[in-house]
Amino acid sequence: MKSAATVDLMNRVAQTDKTFKKIDGQWVGKCLICNGRLSFRISDGFGANIEHIFPRVLGGTDALENLALTHPACNGEKGRHWDAPRQRRAPERNLAYLEMVKRFQERRQERWRNPEI
Ligand SMILES: [Zn+2]
Repeated sequence: MKSAATVDLMNRVAQTDKTFKKIDGQWVGKCLICNGRLSFRISDGFGANIEHIFPRVLGGTDALENLALTHPACNGEKGRHWDAPRQRRAPERNLAYLEMVKRFQERRQERWRNPEI
């Protein structure tokens, strides 16, 4: 189960991502990583995970611009196979990783909308 703080943060990320709409108690939009359809319950966040685009292990923050909503599987894949420092010992692998992070940052920016106050 997700904490109330996490669920609140997920709702704020959805509000600032223009692919997301509220439909029948859910947020429905697109996964930042695979671009596939993604939905989660507004009440408890079930169905999606928060992704730190620039990961916390490298100093990424909880700023809304650095957060995105993803399928749990996509988030797990990036965390295990890319974010972990041991995965990026080879310089070319690290370069490919940084390019991937940059693409996700750009995608988040393209989808950005200002939250309603
Ligand atoms: Zn996905």
